[in-house]
Amino acid sequence: MNFYPGPSKLFPSVEKHLQEAYQSGILSRNHRSPIFSALLKSTVDLLKEKLKIPFDYTIVFTSSATECWEIIAQSFTQNGSYHIYNGAFGEKWKSYTDKITNKATSYEFDVEESLIMNDLKLNHHDLICITQNETSNGTQVSNTCLKTLRESYSSLIAVDATSSLGGVYLDISQADIWFASVQKCFGLPSGLAILVLSPQAIQQGKLINDDQHYNSFIKLYTNANKYQTSYTPNILNLFLLNRRLNEMPIIHVYDQQTSKRISQWYEFLETTKLTPLINNKEVRSKTVLPIKGNNIEDILNLADQKNIILGKGYGKWKDSTFRISNFPALTIKEINQLQTFLQQV
Ligand SMILES: *Cc1c(COP(=O)(O)O)cnc(C)c1O
Repeated sequence: MNFYPGPSKLFPSVEKHLQEAYQSGILSRNHRSPIFSALLKSTVDLLKEKLKIPFDYTIVFTSSATECWEIIAQSFTQNGSYHIYNGAFGEKWKSYTDKITNKATSYEFDVEESLIMNDLKLNHHDLICITQNETSNGTQVSNTCLKTLRESYSSLIAVDATSSLGGVYLDISQADIWFASVQKCFGLPSGLAILVLSPQAIQQGKLINDDQHYNSFIKLYTNANKYQTSYTPNILNLFLLNRRLNEMPIIHVYDQQTSKRISQWYEFLETTKLTPLINNKEVRSKTVLPIKGNNIEDILNLADQKNIILGKGYGKWKDSTFRISNFPALTIKEINQLQTFLQQV
């Protein structure tokens, strides 16, 4: 049983889809062939339909969320980016960006704090970067907060939704750039990420006109318009994503299930000696649950003996917490089994 928050448990149907991919012959076809373009178009259409992505947004594919950090730094900011974060992933994004642009500003907030979005000290920045779901400490920024941010500033807003997209409903219209890799909520193998761009992001990308890198915006965009890619991409993972999107319900169904399951997790913790890391209900993530305990290493070892994979603590919370994912691929049976185990530790 794999409760690691990414790479995470694969959807069981992936096995069947892998076989279908092999048998269909698409894996040895050229990335400019009509059959590949049709796959790409269908995947884009399905993403928009199932995740409620506005029709006028553009979707491109990259290899990882980390690569999206790099693309955003190179192709979407000229005057500097403003990074709002409370944990290790947001901080990493900022330091990644700063190495490329030398123009990244930090705004750190407390893990128990609901962000007051109109309190920020933005001036010349043309990009706001925010981690919607901070995988290191299990906090999230709500759709309502993002809406306030959108209404308060005119800069482009970029959102890292790597451990939430595909598991909860996100109001995509409230930001300009969204990205996530597929090895978390999508329950697919690693090596593919989705980058979603608003018409305003496209406009800023065209203005900056960065075309000198492997995955510069101009290259991504020009090819995406023809349902092509500039190099041979991860066709296998695109195929798997396509088949998973095709069989998945609309995101609201998963959102309800994820919300219900996380509430049950918090109720369950009250019956044990374990405590959640985050006390403020408003900011608790729905997809990643960090749990505090005194004997974390023993818990992880015991779990390992029972073939249960838990997530280690991360960053500042490395030794004092462990993390479990609440991703759609997990079953009630697996959750019950983990709870039975945790009751005994
Ligand atoms: C996992 C994760 C990443 C890194 O994803 P890769 O696909 O490994 O690059 C970035 N941001 C967040 C919030 C994550 O959870």
